[in-house]
Amino acid sequence: MTGTTQDQIARNARVVIVGAGQGGAEAAILLRQYGHEGEIILVGEENAPPYMRPPLSKGFLSGEVDAAALTYKAASAYEKAGVELRLGVRAARIDRAGKRVLLESGESLAYGRLVLATGGRARRLEAPGSDLSNIFYLRTISDVERLRPAFQPGRRLVIVGGGYIGLECAAAALKRGLKVVVLEAAERLLARVTAARVSAFYEKVHREAGVDIRVGAAVSAFAPGEKEGELGFVVVGRGAEAEKIPADLALVGVGLIPNDELAAAAGLSVDAGVLVDEACRTDDPDIFAIGDCARHRRHGFLERSVRLESVPNALEQARVVACALTGRAPPDASAPWFWSDQYDLKLQMAGLSEGFDELVVRGSPDAASFIAFYLRDGRVIAADAVNRPGDFMAAKRLIAMRAKASAQDLADEGRPLKELLGR
Ligand SMILES: Cc1cc2nc3c(=O)[nH]c(=O)nc-3n(C[C@H](O)[C@H](O)[C@H](O)COP(=O)(O)OP(=O)(O)OC[C@H]3O[C@@H](n4cnc5c(N)ncnc54)[C@H](O)[C@@H]3O)c2cc1C
Repeated sequence: MTGTTQDQIARNARVVIVGAGQGGAEAAILLRQYGHEGEIILVGEENAPPYMRPPLSKGFLSGEVDAAALTYKAASAYEKAGVELRLGVRAARIDRAGKRVLLESGESLAYGRLVLATGGRARRLEAPGSDLSNIFYLRTISDVERLRPAFQPGRRLVIVGGGYIGLECAAAALKRGLKVVVLEAAERLLARVTAARVSAFYEKVHREAGVDIRVGAAVSAFAPGEKEGELGFVVVGRGAEAEKIPADLALVGVGLIPNDELAAAAGLSVDAGVLVDEACRTDDPDIFAIGDCARHRRHGFLERSVRLESVPNALEQARVVACALTGRAPPDASAPWFWSDQYDLKLQMAGLSEGFDELVVRGSPDAASFIAFYLRDGRVIAADAVNRPGDFMAAKRLIAMRAKASAQDLADEGRPLKELLGR
């Protein structure tokens, strides 16, 4: 057999994708679009067909949209692409030598190539009382369905964690008529991802909307109220300083743990995420990993090791893997981006601001319309835009170009950002 024929056989051998979230689903459909002729099987432990998680903390939580609106692709798209969906079943083990995935149902699936798109799970807050009822986490449709009966107007909700998910939930809860307290252990909201000025903007918005925001508030325990076994208080601080905050329910949003155990148990390298190269390949040439579960050893654009948690990243890596498996040239590595919706504010962020040495604000936080540019050595490395979609598009290009720009030009509203692109 010639090398080319062997390559074609390998390329068209069955692809099994473990994890039927947006990353897995996108990879399955793209593989077919890009010409993969062999079988494609998408295995997911959740019962729902692949869906979009972002509305879980936004419209789906507030009750504005129903579960059907979350569906990522219509059933007909999988049928048309000849993608076999195996839902409600968990992959238990990878047998690399035999090139098989063993499912918890007892079935085993042979694969030519395997894609891990297993996402992550909500990090638990281990504290005394964390087994009381009415303490919730948010990662899946089922999580929201469990929360719903307690998520009622007038109830006192304590949100632990002032990151995106916590703040989006705060906005959704207010909309639904709950009383909301947000507890953030750091000294400001969104501390891990934005500059102090952007944090201050969000803190003000939430306070004005009626959220009781407490920063520097580390939760030490959960305590029962009158009903045994049921949450009554969230405890902040310790000893004489401890404060008991009354709560009918608590929602914890303190980060994500990547589901990398399947890979680790199969002997693949993991480091808080399955380690992959620029083609999303693990150290087994026939196994790939994408989305929230994958960590780039060295991200093509950011030039450092990173694991990203966002829909755009999951979709881009799906494309990268579909290219790799069909012998196409990969798309150019690009700057990561993300969005978050709170009230009527659309926050869009691009690049990574870590290590910036200058912050430039264009527009007006008071008018809830601005963009914050992060610069390092005079180059634009990241931007956070609030209600500025046009500027955000230009900012993405400036970041992609690693453009040099002066603070004066960036801040000058009279000067279209497009002009800076041409330099
Ligand atoms: C509440 C919430 C709000 C968000 N909002 C935004 C937002 O506004 N913007 C944004 O860009 N991103 C947002 N995200 C993040 C975004 O949803 C994720 O980055 C994205 O879903 C990652 O896709 P994925 O396919 O990698 O993983 P996932 O969507 O987590 O899918 C992985 C799937 O694999 C399944 N699985 C895991 N292990 C196994 C196994 N062994 N066998 C079978 N199946 C398995 C899981 O059950 C899951 O269904 C939000 C996330 C949450 C939870």
